[in-house]
Amino acid sequence: MGSENGPATPVVSGPTCSDCQAALQSAGRHAVSFLLVATLTVPVVGCDEHLEQFRAICDHTTDDAAKLLSHYPAGGIQCPGCRRAHNTHEHPVIQVEDGVAGVFACTTHETELIDRFETGLETRRQLHVDGPL
Ligand SMILES: [Zn+2]
Ligand SMILES: [Zn+2]
Repeated sequence: MGSENGPATPVVSGPTCSDCQAALQSAGRHAVSFLLVATLTVPVVGCDEHLEQFRAICDHTTDDAAKLLSHYPAGGIQCPGCRRAHNTHEHPVIQVEDGVAGVFACTTHETELIDRFETGLETRRQLHVDGPL
């Protein structure tokens, strides 16, 4: 793996899934999914497995089911900032189990999604959900 080519990509420390890393490396060109939580439609990047875990955690924070789309949502992304997000600055990367999820939204919605994720984690902890995997 070369370390001196390509644009700046999110730096992740700790044990991470190589599929997630690969997805982040190619983010902006393809491999972008869309997470639909409540009123948010947020472009996210990661491997299928960890994006699904990310979705499941966010699902705890909404009455409607959180959805993960692998294609551009039919209704589009409402927020212009999120729509252009892959062209802009740096984006936060969230640790999901031993993988990562890159959140490619505007700053406002990045924060909102991360808040939801943390709330979802807390809810899950309190529920002691350990369903079949
Ligand atoms: Zn992964
Ligand atoms: Zn936005």
